Amino acid sequence: MKCLYCDKEIDTLSLTSLFLKEDELCEKCRKQLNRERKIIEVSGLKIETFYEYDGLFRSMLLQYKECHDEALKGVFLYGIEDYINLRYFGYQLLPVPSTGTKIRQRGFDHLAGIFENVKLPRVKGLMMNREMCQEGKSLSERREIIDNYSYNGVHLNKVLIVDDVVTTGSSLMGVFRTIEPISKKIKVLSLAYKKY
Ligand SMILES: [Zn+2]
Repeated sequence: MKCLYCDKEIDTLSLTSLFLKEDELCEKCRKQLNRERKIIEVSGLKIETFYEYDGLFRSMLLQYKECHDEALKGVFLYGIEDYINLRYFGYQLLPVPSTGTKIRQRGFDHLAGIFENVKLPRVKGLMMNREMCQEGKSLSERREIIDNYSYNGVHLNKVLIVDDVVTTGSSLMGVFRTIEPISKKIKVLSLAYKKY
């Protein structure tokens, strides 16, 4: 088997591959992703993260999201899925919605792909009110992003909101505030965070 990212042949006889699900990345690429679990705080929200949005992680995520390399979807949560399934047992998963335009452009929902193997039931009924793109927004425009969600589903018990990269935290905050009044408990997890 070859590494999905660098194409180097993976040594499938390594000891770990006998016990764990096989990694689709070679050891070198996996190491360079620098996975490290951290709790960060952005605009008052405590967010669990695993990577810094930088270096190889950033290149790989862009390759997946913007170059439509869908084969990479499983590599980001490799080694984390079991942890999420255990730690958040009893929670419902709520991925931050992408704009319809972005999903159409990409031809796939990138966040759904990344979290595909997480076995938690999904929250349905959360929507974006308007199509908005987040890049390079001013403070007032970020406020609009926060107010840009609505929810028309049932009351929620325990919810895990997830995203791929947290920068300003506007989308996560928007989703959080939308479901906060009708949820018992909310946790927030983002695959990566961006220092800025
Ligand atoms: Zn590699």
